[in-house]
Amino acid sequence: MITLQGKGVSAGIAKGRLSFLKRESLSVKKRIIDNIEEEIERFNVARQTAADQLDALAVSMVDKIGEENALLFEIHRMMLEDADYCEPIIDIIKTEKACAEYAVNTAGSRLAQEFADMDDEYMKARSIDVYDVSKRVIRILSGEEQDLARSDEPVILATDDFTPSETAQLDRSKVLALVSRQGAANSHTAIFARTMGIPAIIGFGAFLSGDLSGKEAILDGDTGVLYLDPEPKIIMKLEAKKEELLKEKEKLEQMRGKPTINKNGKLLKLYANIGSVSDADAALIGDAEGIGLFRSEFLYLGRDTYPDEEFQYESYRKVLEKMGERQVVIRTLDIGADKQADYFNLPKEENPAMGMRAIRICLTRHDIFKTQLRAIYRASVHGNAAIMFPMISSLDELRRSKELAKAVREELAAEGVPFNADIPIGIMIETPASAIISDILAEEADFFSIGTNDLTQYTLAIDRQNDSLSPFCDTHHEAILRLIKLSCDNAHKAGIWCGICGSLGADLTLTKTFVEMGLDELSVEPSRILKLRSLISEC
Ligand code: PEP
Ligand code: MG
Repeated sequence: MITLQGKGVSAGIAKGRLSFLKRESLSVKKRIIDNIEEEIERFNVARQTAADQLDALAVSMVDKIGEENALLFEIHRMMLEDADYCEPIIDIIKTEKACAEYAVNTAGSRLAQEFADMDDEYMKARSIDVYDVSKRVIRILSGEEQDLARSDEPVILATDDFTPSETAQLDRSKVLALVSRQGAANSHTAIFARTMGIPAIIGFGAFLSGDLSGKEAILDGDTGVLYLDPEPKIIMKLEAKKEELLKEKEKLEQMRGKPTINKNGKLLKLYANIGSVSDADAALIGDAEGIGLFRSEFLYLGRDTYPDEEFQYESYRKVLEKMGERQVVIRTLDIGADKQADYFNLPKEENPAMGMRAIRICLTRHDIFKTQLRAIYRASVHGNAAIMFPMISSLDELRRSKELAKAVREELAAEGVPFNADIPIGIMIETPASAIISDILAEEADFFSIGTNDLTQYTLAIDRQNDSLSPFCDTHHEAILRLIKLSCDNAHKAGIWCGICGSLGADLTLTKTFVEMGLDELSVEPSRILKLRSLISEC
């Protein structure tokens, strides 16, 4: 038996034969051409055909992967129109007199590599999108058809990395699970796999070699382990786990649509954390009672310029409309630290986590902050919105932020633009300072949401990005639990609600403690909601 450890990105147990995705070898040899203009025209025709294919995919994939996920194909089509993508290709055709296939492959690979080299995980994951688009154009140019390994028997499909189109076009009935050498947990491949309910494990590296093809395998998408030629006792163990998971799923389904009430009759709200408009679909599928944290900074990532008011308004409006009467807490921009966008031109810092980030940027660059606040207020008429300021550490910061929100309301009123002036304004408690003065802050905030990821980092002085410090990182540290309790008590004394939106909120070993502390809301990954509801009902 061979045991391989990867990173599980979509839970579930699958058993079957391992089969490597046979990708046709694309013709990318350098051929010298005579007529540059004709070759550029060939490229443009192929580009148009690719655009037509992507338009059709964007429509046909809606049922399979959902409307928002299918939008990715529109983004791919837009890439084909982008000068950053096309100009280097045309340049290679002109300067090297090279055939279009070679030019697309060379320029596309360079661009994909540039993305892969970026520090930001989200941007890294975009590398595969560039690769995907280039492959499509090359296939069209060389007249080759795509043949996703279609065997009659359903298989565990393996490859280097699945492109989003490959994942989306998979025949679900023929694919038991996906395993890959590379990949990122937040790649579209991982998102699609979760949306389609296909167990998936990524990041096996070279250990997942082609000569393993054809071997019998069983995997656990939760723990990220793949067993090849599994021993009977492993098969028995995982099959039992599969049974259990199925039963658990059926049991949890009974919690769907119900309120979250503990045995003392206290009502808690179970909200979802999201980072994009499309995540709101997952929140609804997960039965979220609202959105407790919309990480709006993701609207600022993966682009070259600031998202304008209109773009942001549309994004907030869509989420609010999808969620209907359910509350949507929009956290204002938390850029900086691990979430960098070059166009902010932030100075290089020795210690970015303690540097110019979140509300500090907003209180320094009012133009950026007010654009976002205008977009949120304008969208507020389309649902049940709330605003939340991140990284607040003093009353002065809260007051200055609220002043800017007031200025925006006055501007909109003067312009006659409709908005809801009464949406709640809350803050994140994610610095020890804010927890310690939570009695003072509670007097002027409408709610608290505790960001335990940063609260842990700043309380324990442990960089949350540094894996090597995990042996020192006691997430259940008494200091953190006391700060949570203090904030919750102070919120209640002032008559406001207090929730948790950091990862600790989904820690099932602390659920009972949080219920006892009297927290009013937990905002977690959508897939955790039913499990938490079931556990809370037993508290
Ligand atoms: C937190 O710090 O716990 C939090 C929810 O914010 P983020 O993880 O986005 O910093
Ligand atoms: Mg935080």
